[in-house]
Amino acid sequence: MPVFNTLLELTTAIPDEDAAVAHFTAIRWKSGAFCPYCQGSKIYTFKDRRTHKCASCGKRFSIKVGTIFEGTKLPIRTWLMAIWMITSHKKGIASTTLSRDLGITQKSAWFVLHRLREAAETGSFNAPLVGTVEVDETFIGGKSKNKHANKRIPGRGTVGKEVVVGAVSRGGDVVARVTRNTDAKTLQGFVRENVSKKVNLLATDEFRAYTGLAGEYPHAFVRHSAGEYVAGNVHTQTIEGYWSQLKRQIYGVHHFVSRKHLSRYVAENSWRYNRRSMAEGSRADDLIANSDGRLTYKALIA
Ligand SMILES: [Zn+2]
Repeated sequence: MPVFNTLLELTTAIPDEDAAVAHFTAIRWKSGAFCPYCQGSKIYTFKDRRTHKCASCGKRFSIKVGTIFEGTKLPIRTWLMAIWMITSHKKGIASTTLSRDLGITQKSAWFVLHRLREAAETGSFNAPLVGTVEVDETFIGGKSKNKHANKRIPGRGTVGKEVVVGAVSRGGDVVARVTRNTDAKTLQGFVRENVSKKVNLLATDEFRAYTGLAGEYPHAFVRHSAGEYVAGNVHTQTIEGYWSQLKRQIYGVHHFVSRKHLSRYVAENSWRYNRRSMAEGSRADDLIANSDGRLTYKALIA
């Protein structure tokens, strides 16, 4: 991928919308094409190079679907230029400037700035998780003799273990990350990064690091310490199921998992989970190493 040092370099390398779409597509489908609805990997592309159709679910979509650009009429080339301008103006840029320099209305410029700020906060151009979302954290590692000691340590100590925090949308995608600890700053930061504020429900257990999210999210929790696992719609069984299969995979194959490798396993595993409805034979496992399928801010302008 080329590096654009000036706006002129970018506009020269990406002279029109076709080139912008091709650039964006190359980044988003770096690890292979996939359907944003069912995660199928057999995708047809129409003659216009803009419309795709999934062989599995039959839905038509553009490359913007599932990203923060979804539902916007602005050309991808305009987005790319806006991203370049915003990231090169260290002190920020006014919507009036963006409007004038890109030749778009001030209303559009304000919208672009707003969406890109959201993306900068989440560090990703993937749309945040929506629907009913469960968040939980788990401990993994280090030596195999500890492999059955997966229950939470009192006070959630993490001696000799790595923390993985995850969010899953029921019936949808998972996002999981290896973190340093389980404090409120880390866990709530993860939630704000990866979960849309428009969810129907944010379900966790009673761990106090999640306290404080209720002001921003429809947050409800179950009291595992009191033996309460399901309270109506409130439970964390989907994410716990995800942890089980992640651990089975890791411990089934590896006796020791270093922090560095754990990040890679978690990324690969969530990538695979998010494409779980794909046919086994068509899943291009060899393409997914070191990729979690997320479209990052850096990748788009670097
Ligand atoms: Zn599909």
